[in-house]
Amino acid sequence: MKVTLISPYPDVTNYGLRTLSAVLKQHGHACQMIFMPDFAGDGEYAHVEKDENRYSQQVIDQMIDLAKDSDMVGITLMTHYFDSAKQITRAVKDRLGLPVIWGGFHPSVRPDESIRWADYVAVGDAEDLILQLIDKLEKGQADDLHDIKSLIWRKGDKVIRNMVGTLEQDLDLYPAPDFDLEDHWYLFEGELRPASADLLRRYLRNGTISRMFGLTGYQTMTGRGCPHACTYCGNSFYRDLYKRQRYVRYRSVDHTIAELVDIKKRYPFINFFWFSDDSFFGRPLPDMLYFCEEYKKKVGDPFYLLGSPGTITDEKYGALVDAGLLCIQMGVEHGSPRIQKMFKRSTMGNDKIIKSAEIITKYADRTAPPQYDLVYDLAYETLEDKLATLELISNLPKPYRLQVFSIIYYPGTSLHTIAERDGLVNDEKAEIYDRMYSERHDSYTNTLLFLARSGKFPHPLLKLLIDRRVVEIMTSDYMEPAGKAFQGALSLFRKAFRNEAVARAKALGTITGRLKEFDARLTGMTGADAGAAAPTAADAF
Ligand code: SF4
Repeated sequence: MKVTLISPYPDVTNYGLRTLSAVLKQHGHACQMIFMPDFAGDGEYAHVEKDENRYSQQVIDQMIDLAKDSDMVGITLMTHYFDSAKQITRAVKDRLGLPVIWGGFHPSVRPDESIRWADYVAVGDAEDLILQLIDKLEKGQADDLHDIKSLIWRKGDKVIRNMVGTLEQDLDLYPAPDFDLEDHWYLFEGELRPASADLLRRYLRNGTISRMFGLTGYQTMTGRGCPHACTYCGNSFYRDLYKRQRYVRYRSVDHTIAELVDIKKRYPFINFFWFSDDSFFGRPLPDMLYFCEEYKKKVGDPFYLLGSPGTITDEKYGALVDAGLLCIQMGVEHGSPRIQKMFKRSTMGNDKIIKSAEIITKYADRTAPPQYDLVYDLAYETLEDKLATLELISNLPKPYRLQVFSIIYYPGTSLHTIAERDGLVNDEKAEIYDRMYSERHDSYTNTLLFLARSGKFPHPLLKLLIDRRVVEIMTSDYMEPAGKAFQGALSLFRKAFRNEAVARAKALGTITGRLKEFDARLTGMTGADAGAAAPTAADAF
């Protein structure tokens, strides 16, 4: 069978979909991949007005032409890409009449909504599911899919929800993600172009993390799952879905290193790796030390990874730095114990955060400043909660940079259930599907948060500005006009730099259609090297 897999994500590395493609090929099926980055789903373009039809007619026509000799089309999507997936699906079904399967986080948490558009929905890990589905379809048994675990499908007018499947524990059974060039297509300069090493290089160079360091990065995962279940995170859904199963699983070190060595051999321009595992530090120490040894010996490029407070130990972190760790991204998230409890992060409280930050700082002369993630604009926060986060920041050892995310109550997370119960979700399309984490409310505490982002804001001054007496004055009615004037000036300043993001895309030819001040439709990246930029002073805002 021939399957066409389509990704709407701006990041074309897409570990999940490429692994699926590799699995299909391993089992003798033909697989074509089409990367159709929808930049409107990306935080950088939060201010760009979104059109429900994300792609131009020309791009859709091309996609249809490419998919016409397939037997099935698969699309992966997160919530922000719902409109992109709808547009692609509608075109495939109307014009080709092919079956379409949706997978990824959004279809997993919203299968009933997804099955209204797609013919099949894969909930959770989909490698085994898609093989079984193809087998049934090839045998002409499209009406007998009851035993395919985790599949949602339709029999006549009836939607059938099959039982949840068993997680594969041996991830080494799956091949490395498919980075072939043959039968791969990328949206570029407003049209779908056949993959080439140069096109791949341009895209990898423009990945968010690559741009931070001016390197050409390859993203992969050495494991799946997270031991935590933070209420705002997709892992809270998956842990519940797979309860009583071992959810955190790791590929062997040898399997991972073989992938990295192979990709470097195929694409020598790759000079940076980033591991997007949710629990990289959860690996047992001997395994971690073996990884470091092998990585240093066989790969050697700088790398980036994620960590959570409490899992970072001196021994593991020191070995990783020695192996080439360039930068770590750690979830700090909030400084208020009350909110940490609500997030189910009490085990990653302020003492653990500071302790982990101290370990990281110990190696600061050999790494780039760490990135600490924070969430804000939570409806449940009191002023005291917000000040607790700022106080925590004022106690963090320098250097660091902060990445701040406005909270989004993603469907499927426990926080969404709580927020919905409390009447905080009224218009899901505007408040969730089309809302970006970079949109924020203007307030005194948010202004301080943004001033602190670069990690250069003097801590004594921050401590002074969060002193309760100063806060009282700064947030008083008396100060309101001055506060508004300051917010206005700050917002103009930010807009000027946001304009640069659009101007850059426009100069590169990535925007088509109507373009007013902040009104654009992005249809693909171009001139990628020119778009790559290291963080600037503007990032401090
Ligand atoms: S630690 Fe991070 S990845 Fe794990 S559940 Fe919490 S937010 Fe998600």
